[in-house]
Amino acid sequence: MKLPDVVVEGKENGEGMIIRSQTGKGTEIYGLGIPNVYTDSDWSLGPTWCYLIMGKKKTLIDTGRFGNHEMFKSLLKTIHLDLADIDRIIITHSHEDHDGNLAEIQASSRAELWAHQLYHAMISYHPDVDEGAIHPELPGSCRFCPMPENVRNECLSYHRERSSVTIDVAVKDNFEVREDQLLFVHIPGHTPDSIGIILEDEVFFTGDTLLPNITPHPTLANHFESNCSIFPEEFREGNSIYGLMNYIKSLHRIAGLTSKPFPITLPAHRLFFNNQFNLIHNASDRAREIIRFHMDRCMDILEIAAKPPSTLEDIAAQHFPPRLLKGLGKNLAINEISAHIEILEECEDVRWTGPEMNAIQPTGTNNFLDRLGAYIDPPMQTLDAAQ
Ligand SMILES: [Zn+2]
Repeated sequence: MKLPDVVVEGKENGEGMIIRSQTGKGTEIYGLGIPNVYTDSDWSLGPTWCYLIMGKKKTLIDTGRFGNHEMFKSLLKTIHLDLADIDRIIITHSHEDHDGNLAEIQASSRAELWAHQLYHAMISYHPDVDEGAIHPELPGSCRFCPMPENVRNECLSYHRERSSVTIDVAVKDNFEVREDQLLFVHIPGHTPDSIGIILEDEVFFTGDTLLPNITPHPTLANHFESNCSIFPEEFREGNSIYGLMNYIKSLHRIAGLTSKPFPITLPAHRLFFNNQFNLIHNASDRAREIIRFHMDRCMDILEIAAKPPSTLEDIAAQHFPPRLLKGLGKNLAINEISAHIEILEECEDVRWTGPEMNAIQPTGTNNFLDRLGAYIDPPMQTLDAAQ
């Protein structure tokens, strides 16, 4: 991938920056770095990159973190555009840093809203479905929110506004729009409704599923049981949408998406960070690299767990550097360890033990190596985006 043009220089992490890229067919794409500041945690993702495809229909991919509506408008103005110019909004997944200003932008632009068919359940309330959810009063996307009450409360107005939007097109896996040369792929794991968008068989918008130099937090597989009844029938049979294993399957899917690397891969975070571009030159290679990263993390967890005591908290404290355990970081770290323990448990490489059954004990096997390693091999079938 060649370096995008810098239209507006922003901060050293990319905040307030505007970049421009172009496809071989001449379709322009702008990237806007919308601020994404988390307080009380050192897990910095950098801004959310929202992309604008300047095709026949002006298409916006993601609307950025809640509370940045004015910033969004002023960045648009810099490139001589107005909200009213946007014809279509595509949301990559139901997280606050991606659909945060959606209600306001959709109201002003009257653009069509496109999202995965599970998105509706994620943004809606399901107060009658308890099924062991920690927060059954919150929308589908947040029924297991691990954050403390004060942080959760900051999102309440965002949830309310977001639940009011109308979804015009609910896309399924492999949904194709020939006239705009758009192809949608369902790549769940980070969230159940994560999608990737391929433009002109050349540009791959990855959302959070494929990022340079970091990886997103996976969901937990054990949330499937409690949430599955909020989803359409076809997703209730067996868990294909939650947890690290499904995330790894999505990476495997990405690795096999095309026989050639996408010339332009545009992630939702870290495109520019620490004063430099972090380009993904080959999406397949990056997908395999992330699978290897999770295998290494599983191995490290097994080594830590070999020396008791080893609760999720103990393992998180030893696996992550102290700066990532500060404040809310601790919740994220424990969630991350849990996602890996789920795979290790499924592979029978660990078991729960101790008087409170909250300690993790390795069984002495490394079955996860073969299980996850199988997803690094080149996939048997390749799905060419052009077909
Ligand atoms: Zn994100």
